[in-house]
Amino acid sequence: MDKTGEMYFINGPVVKAKKMTGFMMHEMVLVGNVKLTGEIISLEGDNATIQVYEETTGLKPGEPVSGTGDLLSVTLGPGLIGSVFDGIQRPLDVLKAQSGDFLERGIIANALDMKKAWDVQMSKVKDGDEVVGGQIIATVKETSSVIHKIMIPPNISGIAQNVKSSGKYTIDTSLMTVKSDDGDHEIKLYQRWPVRIPRPYIERLAPKEPLVTGIRVIDTLFPISKGGTAAIPGGFGTGKTVVQHQLAKWADADVIIYIGCGERGNEMTEVLEEFPQLIDPRNGKPLMERTILIANTSNMPVSAREASIYTGITMAEYFRDMGYNVALMADSTSRWAEALREISGRLEEMPAEEGFPPYLASRIGDFYERAGRAKVIGDDQRIGSVSVIGAVSPPGGDFSEPVTTGTKRFIRCFWELDRQLANARHHPSINWLDSYSEYTSELKEWVSKNVDEKFYNMRDRFMQILTEDDNLQQIIKLVGEDVLPDGQKLIVRVANMIKVGYLQQDAFSDVDSNCQLKKQDEMLKIILNYYDRANKLVSKGVAVSEVFDENMVNTIMRMKENIPNDKMEAFKDIETQINTFFDQLDKKYQVSVEA
Ligand code: ADP
Ligand code: MG
Repeated sequence: MDKTGEMYFINGPVVKAKKMTGFMMHEMVLVGNVKLTGEIISLEGDNATIQVYEETTGLKPGEPVSGTGDLLSVTLGPGLIGSVFDGIQRPLDVLKAQSGDFLERGIIANALDMKKAWDVQMSKVKDGDEVVGGQIIATVKETSSVIHKIMIPPNISGIAQNVKSSGKYTIDTSLMTVKSDDGDHEIKLYQRWPVRIPRPYIERLAPKEPLVTGIRVIDTLFPISKGGTAAIPGGFGTGKTVVQHQLAKWADADVIIYIGCGERGNEMTEVLEEFPQLIDPRNGKPLMERTILIANTSNMPVSAREASIYTGITMAEYFRDMGYNVALMADSTSRWAEALREISGRLEEMPAEEGFPPYLASRIGDFYERAGRAKVIGDDQRIGSVSVIGAVSPPGGDFSEPVTTGTKRFIRCFWELDRQLANARHHPSINWLDSYSEYTSELKEWVSKNVDEKFYNMRDRFMQILTEDDNLQQIIKLVGEDVLPDGQKLIVRVANMIKVGYLQQDAFSDVDSNCQLKKQDEMLKIILNYYDRANKLVSKGVAVSEVFDENMVNTIMRMKENIPNDKMEAFKDIETQINTFFDQLDKKYQVSVEA
């Protein structure tokens, strides 16, 4: 059934068409003679409003709008990993090959390579077996890092027939037919899924394991769980993109989905050039072999920003369904919100705060609510997770604006980037007083068992020192440091050691770019041991200047750069140095160690 309507109104990415009988809400349509991709966003009688995801210049009233019969959907199957897509899942390399460097409009490119034959390993399912949605029926080694699990699509169950044996197949091959009450379903290597509909799961589970990021200020002070949500708000140039790139590189997830949404294109190019060279510390494989990039950069159509967000989160859920831990980064959700505002304005909707549509917060919420750790559908009790980390770019760095406040309602980690820290080149500029994580109590058990029983205890002591330091800084501002008693001077000095020697972390340093939890644990121990031993002397009346040996302090400040993740034994040397240093002082001032 070929449905065709007629365009009568064009306003930027918003198009209206009449004679749209038989179309459905959120249907993907092809607009104009050049067949631009669009989506029906409102339908009244046979009048439709369409959001077009490509440049609409040149479209004229009277041109046709044809239906696809599909909701705006993505194609999910082998070939996703390592790809770079635009917001509506067109592979950028294919687009470029077809049209030169400028993306020509109206090109319908297959999201996945239909010709490539994959080595398919079939499961034990045989003709006559009952299968259910989510059940894994075959596996494909998609890259050196990812085994792609071919699953019965959700909402399909029945009796398997015509089951193929293992072999080399293109993704369009039917691996089996599933006979069910509503007819026969061919199960291919790929499935389609409408992006606006969350993929179903059996049960949401509480957070349990941290998503280790390799960034100390995050993992130690404000950790995120696998399946957790976080926002990184920060003004221009405070380090949002660098943090997001660091997460994409080092987060211990099985699959990474990186959405460049409305930001500069050269940042995506950097990722593209860098990732294939970088090695995944978990398995020694190139990082690109677990990564999917979605690029809807600032030079691409504004309306496709929203599509890029939905495309990304749907892919994330798909890999979650395989039982993987997926981490998704979106840089920046503010550009998506701005796109919503622009479209809403063109639709002449009643604006709310700062011109954003009244449904802004609920849209943001719908996105973050698709994160989580879950028992996924299928027959084998798999657990998977989607962690979501969104950058927020408040104009002028004002955190009271609607996108930041709207986001805050739905996320559980808030990593607030601080302009003053960024200006002082303290990176990452995550403010340790205003940021928070609501996962610490849930992650404590895992970290205690797998890293160190005392880890969170030491973390709390760091927070305490930093908080006390903040209070003391107010006094210092007024009357200077000299008036402080030695005990407080020591806190200020140790706090500085924590800020410079621990929280600052150079993303571009070979050694320090990625800091594993074991190393974080050793560093916490060293700094706190130093503090405790120094404090014991100071409380006995020894001057701070005595306990603050420059060489000693330098060694501690530089351990992050000097000791790589695989040389943990080197911390023993530092510990010995510190203990020898203080043993001598103790002797000199006759302080007993047991005292
Ligand atoms: P934003 O995305 O917030 O506009 P960027 O992430 O592009 O800001 O960061 C701006 C600059 O700050 C970077 O180009 C880099 O020089 C510096 N920077 C940010 N984070 C770090 C870091 N962790 N280590 C070193 N330099 C950093
Ligand atoms: Mg940026």
